[in-house]
Amino acid sequence: MPSCREMSELATDYMEGALGWRARFAAWRHLRACAMCRAYYDQLAKLQHLLRRGDLPPPAAEVEAALLAARSGQPPADG
Ligand SMILES: [Zn+2]
Repeated sequence: MPSCREMSELATDYMEGALGWRARFAAWRHLRACAMCRAYYDQLAKLQHLLRRGDLPPPAAEVEAALLAARSGQPPADG
């Protein structure tokens, strides 16, 4: 199972279906077990959805901070 740090790196590929089945299954298991990564993934999915619609608002400071924190392997401030 990937670590939280690895999971934050896999999240985009997972969302886009770019992972092989093993990595996808491992990521799915991690997301099921880890509330912190689920929250990160939810935020990422929302951003991705807005990007696809082409009307991305300026990122809320806390979302940006959470994404940066997750990227650097630190837990989000509220997690
Ligand atoms: Zn995790």
